[in-house]
Amino acid sequence: MVDAKRAGSGTLSVWAGEEARAPGAPTQVPVVPSVSFGYRDVDAWVAVARGEREGHIYGRNTNPTVAAFEEKVRVLEAAEAATSFSTGMAAISGVFQTLLRPGARVVSQKDTYGGTSVLLTRHLPEWGVDVSLAETDDDAIEKEIAGGCDLLYLETPTNPTLKVVDLARLAAAGRAAGATVVVDNTFAPPHNQSPLELGAHLVIHSATKFLGGHADALGGVLCGDPELVRKVFRHREIAGASLHPEAAYLLLRGLKTLALRVERQSASAMRIATWLRDAEGVDAVHYPGLETHPGHAVARKQMRAFGGMLSFSLDGGLDAVKRFLPALRWAHLAANLGAVETVAGTPATTSHVECTPEERAALGIPEGLVRYSVGIEDAEDLIADLEQALASAARG
Ligand code: PLP
Repeated sequence: MVDAKRAGSGTLSVWAGEEARAPGAPTQVPVVPSVSFGYRDVDAWVAVARGEREGHIYGRNTNPTVAAFEEKVRVLEAAEAATSFSTGMAAISGVFQTLLRPGARVVSQKDTYGGTSVLLTRHLPEWGVDVSLAETDDDAIEKEIAGGCDLLYLETPTNPTLKVVDLARLAAAGRAAGATVVVDNTFAPPHNQSPLELGAHLVIHSATKFLGGHADALGGVLCGDPELVRKVFRHREIAGASLHPEAAYLLLRGLKTLALRVERQSASAMRIATWLRDAEGVDAVHYPGLETHPGHAVARKQMRAFGGMLSFSLDGGLDAVKRFLPALRWAHLAANLGAVETVAGTPATTSHVECTPEERAALGIPEGLVRYSVGIEDAEDLIADLEQALASAARG
């Protein structure tokens, strides 16, 4: 077993959950598509079913390829337990459905990923859950927590405006109020930020993004307090949003290069954000690594690197964005992020595609923002590409 306390994150990305087993065993975790696992010995079967003996019964519950993926992320997040889901949203809704009951009070921030925002603003109230969305600001969130809180739900840096909240401070406030503290860490993969170390009970990732890194597999993962993870797993195995073994294999393969990718994406994003700040035609740049970012001091304290995501607005607003985006050569214009390729879009087409224009306005999400997920291309090429696309947008 890899000693997670002694190995670096690059080593853990490669080895955790994938150590060679019996002599002659494959060095790579095999995809096991089988839906069920057979037994001739009924006592052994019963022992596995009761959890008294290791093994698998049925693919909706557990699967060996999926278990290897969960183990790798568990080690990377230095968590006691992990479980997986078919998507990031299945992880988020699984946590809500398991831990909330009518009359419960959820405190969160205005800026969360659009799908989460729809759950918080439309679905949870329909289930009789009281949701209070504070401005994405530590004082405002702390004030809401003081009004009572069963579940504190945080996301930092936020999608798509890259706002930062103070995880240690808010987790302490949430715990003091008796809340379960949940953090969506999708924008800051394990190498960059560790919410569990900062006091969260649970950390969620859309594994579809940086963890997988190749835009070819959907997945979600939940790590943290073993009792809570077990409870959510028990709900998920019945609710049925299980990760497919093929997706688990792709995510595992992607995870091996997580440290390499995220280091490069973070370094390139820093260079690009610095360049954009002084570029002609750019109105505002949102990147927590910039000293001018309002959350920079907190980000420095809680992040090891500032990540590969940034957003910016153009002087000409949405019209300029409509000219700028198609002029980009080295970017997919698509609703994804965290991939090896650079990906760009607007909130209306990416993070907040599920929201109505009115909902986006109420959440303070500008229509003319460009969300830019930095890939692993050469930073100089990306900067040259941004420069020519800005010039093209300016020409009209
Ligand atoms: N959380 C964040 C911050 C996201 O950006 C996304 C998707 O973009 C999700 C959760 C949902 O993930 P998935 O698309 O895997 O359901």
